[in-house]
Amino acid sequence: MRPKLSLLQAYLLIALLALFLTSLWSYSAFQNIERQNERIVEEAIPIANAASELFALLLDQELSVRGYTYNQDMLSLRQYNETKHALAETIQVIHELDHRHPVMQEIIQGEALPLINEMEMFYESQLALVDAGKIVEANARRYSGIDYINQFRDVDADIREDIDKIIQEASQRSVSASNSATWVIVIVVAIAILLLLAFVHTFRLERSKQALIHRSLHDALTGVWNRRAFDEKLERLWDETEESSTDVALLLLDIDAFKLYNDTYGHLAGDACLERVAHAVDKAVGEDGMVARYGGEEFAVLLRPHHARQSKEVAERIRQAVLKLNILHEAYQPLRKVSVSIGVAEHIPGLDVEKSDLIEAADRALYQAKQSGRNRVSMGKAM
Ligand code: GH3
Ligand code: MG
Ligand code: MG
Repeated sequence: MRPKLSLLQAYLLIALLALFLTSLWSYSAFQNIERQNERIVEEAIPIANAASELFALLLDQELSVRGYTYNQDMLSLRQYNETKHALAETIQVIHELDHRHPVMQEIIQGEALPLINEMEMFYESQLALVDAGKIVEANARRYSGIDYINQFRDVDADIREDIDKIIQEASQRSVSASNSATWVIVIVVAIAILLLLAFVHTFRLERSKQALIHRSLHDALTGVWNRRAFDEKLERLWDETEESSTDVALLLLDIDAFKLYNDTYGHLAGDACLERVAHAVDKAVGEDGMVARYGGEEFAVLLRPHHARQSKEVAERIRQAVLKLNILHEAYQPLRKVSVSIGVAEHIPGLDVEKSDLIEAADRALYQAKQSGRNRVSMGKAM
């Protein structure tokens, strides 16, 4: 018996699927955070490098301008121009990257660049003084360059601090994202296990429910339907017949001289014989109807609507099938093997009869079969 999925089990499966999809989704969200953080750190590195170059370049610039002020030599002037060029390139690099980090942008735009511009103007004016031959005047101002450098030292420290902060924050976000991911995985696995347990539990419940239903409608010894199932089926069939005007046929069959069989071979052998007869009857009826143990060694066969007209044929088939079992019954003379007698009753729609009348008619026909010598089929009159 394979139980179908119950509604509860279907819900559990859907919940499991939803959980699985949610966990996939959150896992990829965490991975995204991780990737973003990696990118932030990667981008912060070139800005950090460029920013640390700034200070060295400004220092070089200061030294070359001071050298030029002292010596008015071409080497210092060339050095100054080279540094100026390198400084412009570095500022360009920072411009391209700083918009990704607002605090950094603020320090660069608000503090570093104005100071660098001021220094630029100062150095240009120093060079102009030297070029104009005002060496003494230029020398007198040379310490202003150091002041600027000292001012820039603070800006440089701010930039470094901000870069450290950017990297630290990104790595903190990574850590908390991976912690959350771990928790999500733990929770998802725990819920999935609970859902699976619930699923297995409901599966077992469903199976035992189906087994109970099966047991409540089947005969324990022979495995065919029991009297209760027969009564329910006849009730339903009777109602259907009223609605759809189809005919119904009922066969009652009884094992011949079964008391004698028990007396000869014992009750256990009797049970085995009952089992074999039931199986043979069931096989002989096949899809044409249902076989139920009506009581003791009697069976009832209810033919499906539209099969009723073949009732005699089916009954004959059953009788032959039991004979073919060749179950030895020495005391039962002259046949010496187990046989059945069958009473058949048919209900033709439109006639005003009760289902109890049908049973009675089949019973009467069975009695008739017994009276006429057993191992035969007797047809009751249609009603
Ligand atoms: P007849 O041909 O007139 O039907 O004779 P019979 O002996 O079969 O009829 P009777 O009703 O006198 O006996 C039926 C017997 O079936 C009596 C009972 O011991 C036996 N029987 C009923 N149920 C069972 C069962 O479950 N197992 C066994 N072994 N015997 C059963
Ligand atoms: Mg009997
Ligand atoms: Mg009998």
